Amino acid sequence: MSTFKTLDDLPQDLSGQRALVRVDLNLPMAEGRATDLTRVKAVAPTILELSGRGAKVLLLAHFGRPKGERHSTMSLSYVQGAVEEVLDREVMFISEVQGPVVAQSVDILRDGDIGILENTRFWPGEEANDAEFARAIAANGDFYVNDAFSAAHRAHATTEGLAHVLPAYAGRAMEAELKALDAALGNPAPPVAAVVGGAKVSTKLAVLENLSRRVQHLIIGGGMANTFLAANGVDVGKSLCEHDLTGTARTIMDKADEAGCTIHLPYDVVVAKEFAANPPSVRTCNVHEVAADEMILDIGPQATEALGDVLKTCATLVWNGPLGAFEIPPFDTATAALARTAAALTQDGSLTSVAGGGDTVAALAHAGVTDKVTYISTAGGAFLEWMEGKELPGVAALSA
Ligand code: ADP
Ligand code: MG
Repeated sequence: MSTFKTLDDLPQDLSGQRALVRVDLNLPMAEGRATDLTRVKAVAPTILELSGRGAKVLLLAHFGRPKGERHSTMSLSYVQGAVEEVLDREVMFISEVQGPVVAQSVDILRDGDIGILENTRFWPGEEANDAEFARAIAANGDFYVNDAFSAAHRAHATTEGLAHVLPAYAGRAMEAELKALDAALGNPAPPVAAVVGGAKVSTKLAVLENLSRRVQHLIIGGGMANTFLAANGVDVGKSLCEHDLTGTARTIMDKADEAGCTIHLPYDVVVAKEFAANPPSVRTCNVHEVAADEMILDIGPQATEALGDVLKTCATLVWNGPLGAFEIPPFDTATAALARTAAALTQDGSLTSVAGGGDTVAALAHAGVTDKVTYISTAGGAFLEWMEGKELPGVAALSA
């Protein structure tokens, strides 16, 4: 793993120091109120630790897509209440991100106090990663902490640029995420299995290509398995299938073979004539028995059991994408069953299991294994880019 500094590399006593801390406060909102506090809870340990060690903590974050202009509806003042609720502390909102208003507000703060600066994306310098803008923000801080892995795939002033103008440290959430991702794909204990599911091959081509070079077992499920089955000459009926990508699927299978990676496709599947909860037409069959008017909506019980056996031989699992249309029963069955197997192996200590992706997080929560796998990344785009093997600018800047 590339090396980066953490809060352990700072002096224990931070009194009199100003910490500029990039966090993810892009909270889902309804009627002006945050509906989910997960992101605030994720960064609370870093904020409270810095505050407890005596620093003045200045939070930097973006909110929505204001495109370089002030929009009253996208002010970070809307999340002040949510931050105060999670931290159980009073927090000052500061309506600028640079300049004398910030300087004066920071003077008012006492050691250990916390402030939220305004939405960084109100200024065009943020997304342009303007060095002057970064220096103007840095003028009100003594060091920079990045605790927003979910924004690390963007090279913006507060996710990347600041690391070049101030001493830079990974916050506790960033540190945990980087350690988990390194254990899953950077320097994993072999054998490694990857589960890639979800709707379409086209959205995860780079993920499939990268994984097929790096893991021993590539388990393909979800709608994208249909494209691979079709590439093998299977008639998938009315299933979601990208017929124009069967050649690409073939190439991925050939390359995996050369790299010594076994690709696992289902040999039994759950099909139905309509996409509805518990439809009367639902049945399980061999992949070669799908009728012209049927859709494959989940992998079958035999395939699920065989995949569980694969996981039992593995030391590491990385998972992105559900195995079936998990939102609707009974097509959540395989995803939930394999998730429970992964969780049990993790609890037994034989498997390190790391998962991520918007729908994957929901599917694993639905299976009740959120706290039983090693790590679940909620980082979305950054997690996928990392699965693609890309270097994330926000992480690279911390390691420089
Ligand atoms: P993630 O958000 O975790 O990266 P994706 O967005 O790629 O996952 O995929 C999730 C979607 O894939 C879900 O909406 C699910 O219903 C769909 N899906 C999974 N299997 C199938 C299938 N066999 N047919 C159609 N859709 C499927
Ligand atoms: Mg999704």
